[in-house]
Amino acid sequence: MSNAHFLHSLVGSMSEGAAGNPTVAMIEAAFAHHGLHWRYLNMEVTPADLGSAVRGAKAMGFRGFNCSLPHKVTVIPHLDGLGESAAAMGAVNCVVRRGDAFIGENTDGKGFLRSLEAIEDPHGKSVVLFGAGGAARAIAVELALAGVRRINVVNRSEARGAELANLLRERLNIEAAHNVWSGDHAIPAGTDIVINATSIGLYAPEAQLPLDLATLRPGMVVADVVFNPARTRLLAEAAARGCRPLDGLGMLVNQGILGVQYWTGITPDAAVLRAALESAMGL
Ligand code: NDP
Repeated sequence: MSNAHFLHSLVGSMSEGAAGNPTVAMIEAAFAHHGLHWRYLNMEVTPADLGSAVRGAKAMGFRGFNCSLPHKVTVIPHLDGLGESAAAMGAVNCVVRRGDAFIGENTDGKGFLRSLEAIEDPHGKSVVLFGAGGAARAIAVELALAGVRRINVVNRSEARGAELANLLRERLNIEAAHNVWSGDHAIPAGTDIVINATSIGLYAPEAQLPLDLATLRPGMVVADVVFNPARTRLLAEAAARGCRPLDGLGMLVNQGILGVQYWTGITPDAAVLRAALESAMGL
């Protein structure tokens, strides 16, 4: 069993609709490039079967797996422990075998943070965050752990926005407020980083974020979690005003890098992952 095709390890992705996941192409390209005889398998798991699937993955020696909606919260009772940010946000998207334990991590926000850190040190910065769903929550928690000074959450639903601002103030001890989003939101003076963490713009290149573009100032970082199209309308308009745009593909690629690091211990080549992802997404 020691020939080149022996599978040292398996990792997986558990989602409800498993077809056509470009993450598979990205992770397997990393394994191939680094000569790792690993596989990353995409499996459709229904909510009712989640516990059995996790026990099965453990029994079969999986080194870990990703999980996506609707499993990010409900997977937690089936795990042996949680990393710091996964515990704070109450959601897991990456499970890692450590010894005999399956530990839940969350790479959504960490992927964003790594992408951001390539162009800006978040420490002490003031942030406007559009959205309060899963991606926004993950990003906000990682930004708080990385030492941002303040986060203004702007969300359509008041309850979700208020809940996130409370979490940031009470559990992570940073300045946080929330605004109900109505009309074109004006970015306050002194803001360093603006983030769209809503789904506005996903597969909709013409979609416009309700934002007063005149309040974007040169030098601000303007980031979008939307990864398709890679250059959203928000990013194009921000770049035209002298802001520094940050696309959602970087966040996705860094999530892939973090997963491979967690599972295998090696740091994969980012360019290989990005090229595989863009090719799988037809970009
Ligand atoms: P959720 O459904 O958890 O949250 C969606 C958020 O978008 C909510 O805050 C919702 O507001 C807001 N929203 C949606 N439509 C509108 C609208 N028309 N006007 C105002 N607000 C709106 O989704 P996720 O957080 O999981 O995902 C959000 C986006 O992030 C998706 O596009 C997803 O593809 C992307 N993503 C990107 C990743 C990457 O690696 N680049 C990783 C993970 C996600 P409300 O609370 O009022 O409903």
